[in-house]
Amino acid sequence: MDKVVKSEAQWREQLTPEEYHVLREAGTERAWTGEYVQTKTAGVYSCRACGAELFRSATKFDSHCGWPSFYQPSESDAVVLLEDRSLGTIRTEVRCARCDSHLGHVFHGEGYPTPTDDRYCINSVCLTLLPE
Ligand SMILES: [Zn+2]
Repeated sequence: MDKVVKSEAQWREQLTPEEYHVLREAGTERAWTGEYVQTKTAGVYSCRACGAELFRSATKFDSHCGWPSFYQPSESDAVVLLEDRSLGTIRTEVRCARCDSHLGHVFHGEGYPTPTDDRYCINSVCLTLLPE
C-alpha cells in the first residue's frame, strides 16, 4: 500500500474545517448529525481524506448509537487500531491505514447480532460513499 503523507497545512487546505477537526485532530461529530447514520445505500465507503476503501455497505448495521456502524473493515489491513486513553477510559481508536487519519473507535462484545460483534463506530465526515 502506498501511504499518503501530507503536512498538516496541506490537510487543512484540502479538507473542510469540520473534516480537518475529526480526521486530523481526532474529533467526533455529534451523534445523529452525520450524513451516513441511517444510510442503507449499497456501495463502498472510502476515506474522505485519501480515498482508500475502508468499509462496504454489506457490513453496515443499525447500532442505534448515532454514528455509522460496521462490523468489519473491507480488508483487515484497511484500518489500524491504536489504544486511546483519552476521556479517562481505554478505547480503541480506528485510523485509516493509508493516510493515518482518525476515523472513529471500535468496540467489541456489546451483543450486536453480527458475525463479529465488533462495532466500528465511524464518523460520517470521515467517509465518502460511492454507490454501486
Ligand atoms: Zn485515508
